Parts: sequence; C-alpha cells; structure tokens
Amino acid sequence: MGANSKIEWTTHTFNPWWGCTKVSEACKHCYAETWAKRVGQDVWGPKQQRRTMSEAHWRQPLKWNREAAEQATRPRVFCASMADVFEDRDELIPHRERLFDLIEATPNLDWLLLTKRPQNVGRLAKWGDDWPKHVWLGTTVELQSRAEELLPLLAQVPAKVRFISAEPLLGPLAIEPWLGSTINWVITGGESGPKARPACPKWFTELREQCTRHGVAFHFKQWGDWAPGDGHDLPARKRQVADDGTMMVRIGKKAAGRLLGGIEHDGLPNLGNAY
Ligand code: SF4
Repeated sequence: MGANSKIEWTTHTFNPWWGCTKVSEACKHCYAETWAKRVGQDVWGPKQQRRTMSEAHWRQPLKWNREAAEQATRPRVFCASMADVFEDRDELIPHRERLFDLIEATPNLDWLLLTKRPQNVGRLAKWGDDWPKHVWLGTTVELQSRAEELLPLLAQVPAKVRFISAEPLLGPLAIEPWLGSTINWVITGGESGPKARPACPKWFTELREQCTRHGVAFHFKQWGDWAPGDGHDLPARKRQVADDGTMMVRIGKKAAGRLLGGIEHDGLPNLGNAY
C-alpha cells in the first residue's frame, strides 16, 4: 500500500477535481460517488458541477516530486480516484490543463492516468504522439465487450506504459492479442461495497495465465467483498456459486484479502531503461 494512498498499486493519489458521470457497468456501484455523497458533495451526473480543489491540494505533487528527487525514488501517482481525467466537459478544461502542466513539472513521479473514456484521450491530452515517459495510461476493462471496444483505442496512445484495470471484474476476459503489444500491466480485483457483485475465481486465474504467457505484469488487488469459502454457516444471501462451481461467500473486503491461489500478486511493469 502506498504512503499516501490506500490503493495497493500506487504511492499517492491525486484528484484534480471530484465528480463524474457513469459510463459503464463498472461504474454501477462507483465507490467515489458513494464517498462523495457521504461527505456532502453532490458532484455526480451530467447536471452537477464538479468540485474544484484548493491551492494547497495542487501543491502536494510538487512536494512529492521534491521528496522523490531527494530520496532517489519513483513514486507512482494514481490520477484520479474521484473523477475521470478525460471526462469531456467545458468546465474541466482549465483544470485538466493545469493538471498536465503539473505533470510536466513533476518528472520524478510516475503519473498513472486511469480513464473509462479512452476515446477522448487523443483529443483532450496535450501530448499528441510524444507522451512524456513518466505518464502512464490505463483504461478500465470489466467485460470482454469493453475490451473489444476500448483496447483498440488504448493502443492508439503512445504512452510508455499502458495498463488495464480489470476491476471490478464482471466476466471472463480473453485479451491475449493485446498483451505485450498494447498492455504492459494488468490490475484486477473483485468488487466491494454494499451491492458488490461476486466474481468467479476462474476469471482471475485465466487472466493471470494469459499475462504469464506474454510476460505481462499481473497485480491482484483484492477479492472485494466476496471470496471463495465454505459458507455453510452463512445465510443464503451471503453465498453464491460462481460459474466455475466455486462457492463464493460474502465475508467483507478485509477478511477476503488479496491472495489468489495462496499468493499475493503485486506485479509492476518492467520499465527497462525508460528514464
Ligand atoms: S468513470 Fe470512474 S469515477 Fe466516473 S462514475 Fe465511473 S467508476 Fe465512478
């Protein structure tokens, strides 16, 4: 887990604004929307204004960048957990431009831009065919249909690292044609939250096998609220048989943990001589 983030695969998170509009099945139980509502922010949907951030907030990455230089480390910054950087709204234009300037001013940080709107990246990102080496681009792929739709778009962006977040994984993925060529890193996991949908263990193990065959880094973030288990003492609403016959039990994210086949998978992309 990161120094400044509860997300296992990043060191920090940075949000240039809060708020978004749902675009896919993976958005159905958007944790960011739930969190925003909990703290009194009505910033979701096409009609709501987004929440803008303070000057002190915008200065944080400059501090992380200085610390990284002093400590000779390369922290990863996940952007964004409470928004989608490539949501196309006029009010967001100055904030996105400010974000891109900030990214360019912090070359000691690896910026991980994760979007569910890769179709907007070519138009809204400022870097054209010349992406800075410290800017990675990822898209969320929760179903095979989304893989077919989004991965050709991801492939068009010349980011040094391109990754997918297959979380919450909602079905099996067969993505070998893109592994190694388009995708350098696969992050996956199950869903958490009050309405979490159980995944099937085989979806994860098959994805891991595909990554292994192509030498692509694989990170299993979490089971989410549901994990394989016995469940004989649990009420029926907390038990469900997955597609591969595994009994999935609702035991909560913490108890479910993040072991797949008894192993933590913390793969990171091999950057070679990127810097
Ligand atoms: S794109 Fe991300 S932040 Fe936006 S609604 Fe979907 S899950 Fe939530």
